Amino acid sequence: MFRTRWLLHGFSTRTGGVSEVYGGHALNLGYTKHDTHAAVDENRGLLLRALGAVNTGKAWPLVRLRQIHSDIVHRVDHPPEQLLTGDGLVTDTPRLLLAVQTADCLPVLLVDPKRKAVGAFHAGWRGTLARIVEKGVGAMRLHFGSEPEDLRAAIGPGIASCCYAVGEEVRDRFHAQFAYAGALFREVAESDPVRERYPLLFMTARAPGHSDAGRTIYLDLRESNRRQLLDAGLAKANITALDLCTACRTDLLFSHRAEKGVTGRQMGAVGICD
Ligand SMILES: [Zn+2]
Repeated sequence: MFRTRWLLHGFSTRTGGVSEVYGGHALNLGYTKHDTHAAVDENRGLLLRALGAVNTGKAWPLVRLRQIHSDIVHRVDHPPEQLLTGDGLVTDTPRLLLAVQTADCLPVLLVDPKRKAVGAFHAGWRGTLARIVEKGVGAMRLHFGSEPEDLRAAIGPGIASCCYAVGEEVRDRFHAQFAYAGALFREVAESDPVRERYPLLFMTARAPGHSDAGRTIYLDLRESNRRQLLDAGLAKANITALDLCTACRTDLLFSHRAEKGVTGRQMGAVGICD
């Protein structure tokens, strides 16, 4: 992990907050339908203080997005009056905490230590397909003159290839976009405990219209974003990816899929001290 005094950054977990839902003491950072706004606001305050995003006792503005799984990146130089719509934020203005909310999708942070500029991006499969992080690198080049080889990237916790089953149409769409798409998917035969235990039953009684061996396709979203950052010109050594699967680790992280939608949101956040 890249560390420097002018930079604040981090990925939150689900523990240590004041939300009474989602198992209690949850650090839910998103306005969900189950939690109260008061609890979320207090949790956000806890995050800002934990990161040290505080100046003379006052927390920095937390700049968020109405996320829509797009390739839209906003440059901000002051706290927006209204919630911006999109999936990426970049700035070179100190004392703004840029944040994306996730609960399976990947939070990706970019830092340019030469030009003191930062970015935060939200990448689910749709945003990844739309090349949100590649466009994030482009936005940093455009607005701050960043050279990709100077950039550092941190890919936070998200649903990993162990758990991220997707439909065949998702794979087809990635193959249409990325030459390396073959490296992003794996296909496994579905195991069926009943069928394995009583194979004779299924030799004679097979439901009509059902194939005998289902296959499941898994997407490696982390590798997909890593490849995209490499394609955009980042050095391999400058990309750090957390090896944490939200769906496997609901003790530590929120997972929309593993918790069937009844879950909170964690944040990936980054800001400049001065
Ligand atoms: Zn997993």
